[in-house]
Formats: sequence, structure tokens, C-alpha cells
Amino acid sequence: MNEAGVPDKSPDERLAERALRAARDTRLLRVGSGARRDTAAAFTALFGAARAVVVADPRTFAAAGSDIADSLRAGAIRSDPPILLGGDGTPADVHAHYEFVEELAERLSRTDAIPVAVGSGTINDLVKLAAHQQDRPYLVVATAASMDGYTAYGASITYQGSKQTFACPAPRGVVADLEVIAAAPRGMNASGYADLFAKVAAGGDWMVADALGDEPIVPDIWQTVQSRLRTWLGTPEQIERGEPEALRRLVHGLMLSGFAMQAAQSSRPASGAEHQFSHLWDMQRHPTHHGHHRDGGGAAASHGFQVGIGTLASLALYKYLLAQEVLLPGRDDVERAVRDWPTWEAVLEEIDERFEEEALRTVARREMEAKYVPPAALRAQLLRLREMWPDLRARLARHLYDLADAREALRAAGCPDEPEQIGLSRSHLRASYHQAYYIRRRFTVLDLAVRTGHMEPALDHLFGPDGPWPPM
Ligand SMILES: [Zn+2]
Repeated sequence: MNEAGVPDKSPDERLAERALRAARDTRLLRVGSGARRDTAAAFTALFGAARAVVVADPRTFAAAGSDIADSLRAGAIRSDPPILLGGDGTPADVHAHYEFVEELAERLSRTDAIPVAVGSGTINDLVKLAAHQQDRPYLVVATAASMDGYTAYGASITYQGSKQTFACPAPRGVVADLEVIAAAPRGMNASGYADLFAKVAAGGDWMVADALGDEPIVPDIWQTVQSRLRTWLGTPEQIERGEPEALRRLVHGLMLSGFAMQAAQSSRPASGAEHQFSHLWDMQRHPTHHGHHRDGGGAAASHGFQVGIGTLASLALYKYLLAQEVLLPGRDDVERAVRDWPTWEAVLEEIDERFEEEALRTVARREMEAKYVPPAALRAQLLRLREMWPDLRARLARHLYDLADAREALRAAGCPDEPEQIGLSRSHLRASYHQAYYIRRRFTVLDLAVRTGHMEPALDHLFGPDGPWPPM
């Protein structure tokens, strides 16, 4: 308590307040047990006397939506009847697919009500885009701590056969009820834990990009994601058991990651090579697929579980590189790397060899064109890296988790820690290192390994008898 008799704010609440001031779209975050019953207060704080409409699916309506409708009624907020997606007698099979956006946008066009989305990844993305199309803000009540996309701008929606990110603002406000989240379907909060764990590897990638002058770190935004990350990740077994305090920390970590992306106008603060692995597997699994499971359930592994394996892949490569003198002064390492650097024509040939799907080749060509550098620029960059490697290596070693500790934490939270658990063979994982490098222009540990000529030796080690993924 402070002198005015108001309870002191927790470090997470103070960090959230600061991050909200820097966030582009979101103005309010309420996290607490039973918070769904106070949705009316959050709605009024954001939208005054506006009309509201709850948007849910049958499961999330039962879990929280009906209590939220009660709260709005008790708060004397004028409300439309709830919109239940997939609730018209068909099985509750709502996907992040454009046809649901169209349906929802059409229903919103008949009212001036502000949507209150009740759900997780799919419902949030559908409402995010449909509300934007109707030129309206929205409020989301999170029903699982399953990923950091609640507070990210942009919606990931399958359109004309491929998953696309549509530009649209993040929600104006977020309510997260820890009672509802604790009761989420099995695996959803574990998925969120893995998506938060990814910030360890993503932070390492940003440190590398910063050191090489590719993308400078913005200190405030870095702090938002990284300053309390080890605390948020520190009790994985409590996530598995659904304990409210651990879920409260997880929710803050995920929401703050979204605020950081809003402030940066980029996913860089929350996403690096580990997310490139996951995007690659999405594209390979469903090059022309219509359904997409963003946060759990269904046939494909959740976003978080894929990102968790991607994080281990990234940390394993870091571990190898940190054990090396990446570029030794006094040897001809830099000149050798420059000699081995492929011509642009050779890059195009390698893309054709590495990818079977034309759709992925197109992505790879576009992204590589954005990050390919001529040999002289590579030489300058490697000379700079050689200079700073001792310092960068020490800082990375302090920042990153050891691979064994990361595996143990993921396992304790109920996440997969072997590629086979998400349907990937070891040879597929090995090939993914090369492919993930191609599909995104962002500078990551993959670029560090390729540019210094260490990728192939690293993979020989990682998939050899003494590596984390020996031949089975
Ligand atoms: Zn993610």
C-alpha cells in the first residue's frame, strides 16, 4: 500500500503502463482473476456510451462470453445480441479464414456497435480485421495465454489459398481473466509459454543485427520485452499446473511483446530465426491450405509449439557458434568467406534446389534480393564482426539460455522439445536451417552462420553423434 491507501503496482503493471504509453493502438490492459465480470468498466473507459456487441464462438461464449454479456448489461451498456461464429448449428469449426472475416464484417455493417472479441488467436484475428474494415476499434477478452498476437497489429488470415498478414490496428483494449485462461483447453497456455520463450532467441538475433549495424536496438522497446523475461519464464511447471500467478506473468509477457511490436512498428522485438522456422513449416504444410490452426488443437502443431522447436534450433546454432572463434584475426577467414560468397546467379540456383514449391521459391527470391550484399559489403561486415566478436560473444552468452536449460523449461511447461513431436524428422529440421535462412530478409543467427561460413560445419555437428539431434 502507498500513503493514499492504494495498493502498490507490481513491476509488471508498471512496465505495462510504460509500454502502453508507447504502444500505437492499445490503451488499456486489465489482467486479473474474474476480470471478465468487469468488462463493462473497461468498455466504458475506452468507448464511453457506445453500443457493444460480443463476438465469440460457442466454446468461448460458454467459457466467458455469457458472463461478459451479463457484465455489459449490468453496466447499462447498450448491446446487440451476441454474434456467435460457427454457432449456426454447424460444428464449431471457425478458422482464421477470409470467409469468416467477410461474414463478420457484413454483420457489423448492420450496426454501429463496437465489437468485444471473446477468444484467442483465431477470434481475435477475425475481429481485428473485420472491425478495421468497418472503421471501428475493438476490445478483446483473452480466453487463453496462447500467443503474443492479441496485442500485435496485423491479422494473420488465409486468403485465396495462402496465409497472409493483413495490415490493421491492434485492439484498443485487452481484458485477460486468469480464471478463464487457467481453464483453457490443454496445451494452449503451454503454446503461449513457448511463444514467450522465443523472445530469448529473438533477442539474441536483435543483438547480432544491432552489433552489425543492420537494425539498431531501441532501448525502451528492448526493455519492454527483455527486462523481465527470465522472471516470466522462470516457473514453467506452474504454467503446466495452471497456477494463477504464473499465468499472470505469462499474460504480461505476451501482451507486452505485442506492445513492443506496436511501438517498433515491426515484429523485430519479438521474432527472429525461431519464427522463420515456424513460418517455413506453415508454408510447407499448407502451401494452398484453407484452414490454419494458430493456437492449438487440430491436426497441425500450434504456432507456439512450432516456435518452441524453432527456438531450440536457434539456440543450438548459437551454442555452436559461441564455442567457436568465429573469425580469427591473423588468419584468412574473412577472405575465405568472401571467396565462398555465392554470386546472385548462384543464389537463384540454390533457391531452386532447396525448394520444391514454386510459391516458396517466389518468397525466397524476393526476400534474398532484399538482403543479398555484394562481396565488398560482406568483407566490411565481417571485418566489423571480427573486431567486435569477443564482446558480442560475451553478451550473447549472458543473454541466451543454454540449450539443455531451454529444453528442460519447455518440457516442464508441457511443450514439445523434440522435432518429431511436431511431425518433423531430423533430416527435415536440418534442411529447415537452410530454407528458413532464405524466406525472410531479417538478419538473424542464420545469416551469422551463413556469412561466416559456419553453417555447414555447424549442421554436421548438431546432427552428428555428439550433437543434440544425432542420427536415430
Ligand atoms: Zn509468435
